[in-house]
Amino acid sequence: MSYERDNIRRMHGYQWGEQPDTADVTKLNTNENPYPPSPMVARALSEFDPGLLRTYPRPTADPLRDQLAGLHGVTRDHVLVTNGGDEGLRLALSTFVDPGTTFAMAEPSYSLYPVLAQIQDARITTVDLDANWQLPPDSAARLNAAGARLTRLVNPHAPSGHLTAAARLEALGRELDGVLLVDEAYVDFVDPALNHNLGPLVRDLPNLLLLRTFSKGYSLAGLRLGYLLGHPTLIRPMIEKTRDSYNVDAISQALGGAAIADQDYARRTWQQVRESRQALAAGLARLGLDCAQSQTNFVLARVADDGPRSARDLYLGLKARGVLVRYFDTPRLAQRLRISVGTPEQNQRLIATLEELLHEQPSR
Ligand SMILES: *Cc1c(COP(=O)(O)O)cnc(C)c1O
Repeated sequence: MSYERDNIRRMHGYQWGEQPDTADVTKLNTNENPYPPSPMVARALSEFDPGLLRTYPRPTADPLRDQLAGLHGVTRDHVLVTNGGDEGLRLALSTFVDPGTTFAMAEPSYSLYPVLAQIQDARITTVDLDANWQLPPDSAARLNAAGARLTRLVNPHAPSGHLTAAARLEALGRELDGVLLVDEAYVDFVDPALNHNLGPLVRDLPNLLLLRTFSKGYSLAGLRLGYLLGHPTLIRPMIEKTRDSYNVDAISQALGGAAIADQDYARRTWQQVRESRQALAAGLARLGLDCAQSQTNFVLARVADDGPRSARDLYLGLKARGVLVRYFDTPRLAQRLRISVGTPEQNQRLIATLEELLHEQPSR
């Protein structure tokens, strides 16, 4: 006898990356920012008045919404602040996808997507990305034919790091009958020379949502803070109806505001990550592990099929030596390792440990 709904009983939960308690592990498995949050965040935390915790927080986090609206050149009614980006992903499903109707996503992508879709009891349609992690040209027609109420793409893409141009996504958004949610969890790490910016489009496109998080770019994964940008016709029902009544706590609102106010600091960490990304990819290439060009804070390294060790073997060997990376046991990703960009010291340790493993006696 089970009390669960059928769809809940049938599904499997999200497999999160390991979060070890020991400090001597080099943790390159969950794409956290290797640098600490801004000193302004530390100051806001130490000056936070616990007396404020006696009352409920601001229900819609309006001061933070205004700050974010200013950052993106939109108005407050284009912004919804959420309890982590993950809450935004869930809200888009519960607001725009009836149970039994279709949710669509590119394959591969963030493994939380199908989990959330199954909770909503939506059907899942996938669009396979091509060998260069690009969307097929006829994607819009296929998604419309499938009746996709909500289509979700990660851009820059996870786990490949590939960036799809803004013009391509704009065209897709204009062609789609349903809502397009572009998950921009990693967009802060895109090379600024590319001038990639979808933000202004949310004023014109009534079916476009952009998801942002403080977890990666602002080094605040432990805080649980994110936001959605979108046309007010999409944002309003989520603000007024589907989110939890006090979805963002008072501490998150205060620290998030401090982080956003210190753009200079955040930009410096993004630049450091970009520089380390280059160095890391070059170091991996010297060991025979090819990385596709990445615009994120991780690289997807390909382990040669004819090399001494499989990707899984390297993942386990690294783990035994205190270096955590991410391995996905799926046909498309089985010969690859997703490695978060760490500090130069962490990246060095990864490269040195990989080198040791590759020079050991092969185990297969
Ligand atoms: C990290 C991440 C998010 C959001 O994460 P939160 O920590 O919940 O803000 C969303 N999408 C992708 C692809 C991510 O990697």
